[in-house]
Amino acid sequence: AKKMGKNDFVIFEEHMASELKAQVSMTSDLRKALINREFHLVYQPQVNLYNHRIFGAEVLLRWNHPVRGPVSPAEFIPVAEAHGLIDQLGEYVLRCAIKQIADWKRQYGRAVRLAVNVSPRQFGRFDFVSQVGLMLEEFQVDGRLLELEITESALAKDIETAVSKLMELRCLGVGVAVDDFGTGFSNLASLKRYPVDLLKIDRSFIRDIPHDQDNLAIVIAIVQMAKTLGLKILAEGVETIDQIRVMRQQGCDLIQGFYVARPMLVDQFEKDYLSGSGQ
Ligand code: C2E
Ligand code: CA
Ligand code: CA
Ligand code: CA
Repeated sequence: AKKMGKNDFVIFEEHMASELKAQVSMTSDLRKALINREFHLVYQPQVNLYNHRIFGAEVLLRWNHPVRGPVSPAEFIPVAEAHGLIDQLGEYVLRCAIKQIADWKRQYGRAVRLAVNVSPRQFGRFDFVSQVGLMLEEFQVDGRLLELEITESALAKDIETAVSKLMELRCLGVGVAVDDFGTGFSNLASLKRYPVDLLKIDRSFIRDIPHDQDNLAIVIAIVQMAKTLGLKILAEGVETIDQIRVMRQQGCDLIQGFYVARPMLVDQFEKDYLSGSGQ
């Protein structure tokens, strides 16, 4: 490799410094944001490919920064994770989601299943499962209406502890989905050790099908394996009718993506899916 010159190093240091400054300022902004209620949730429907009925919705966090405007979770979640704020943020999302399930039950008489993203650090907490259990109790929500989306890498960290947490969640009725499936390079066969309910095939594999033969082959293999293990399977990031055709042909159960609907505000979700005669 080329040795760094003195000037390169100065530039490198300046870059590091500004990167660090940006992270520190975002961390303090995130702290304020929790107090000032700058966060809200949006909901993206997950739909059954065969009867076209809504299966549930994924809850996604949104941050409207007072100066910068909307900041993507892809940007602020990793910062929150790195600076010890994810516990608070994750608890906030979980609580809002569970409360929303209870509110919809009361207001519309409808049982809506919500899927909540759980960060690796949050799942790693020793009291994570009891936290979930307490919240379900607090809002009198049936655990079967909650699904937790956890990435492969979070599950792979400490397999024994992860498996026992998953079994405890199952006792609460709470479902678990493996998020971004296929990106973790994990041994597919090891999946059978985990008591999970659903695999979410990562959007990167869905994006170029049916044109990309490699991705198509991967998707087919994942669906087959999920079926063998008795897991439900969801394709995320579905944007075209061609992708839907392929996924239906392969026997994929559920889809989520812009083709069906973008993540939406609570009012829109209620209008489209809960009120009136719509399903
Ligand atoms: P993810 O869990 O894989 O969520 C799916 C992302 O794909 C969302 O981006 C969603 O808006 C986007 N998406 C859905 N359908 C389509 C599609 O058809 N095409 C395209 N191009 N994109 C689609 P979003 O909301 O920006 O979230 C990004 C990531 O941030 C999420 O990826 C998740 O890892 C993280 N995240 C979001 N909310 C939370 C949260 O409450 N807690 C935690 N821990 N992470 C969250
Ligand atoms: Ca997710
Ligand atoms: Ca995902
Ligand atoms: Ca993702």
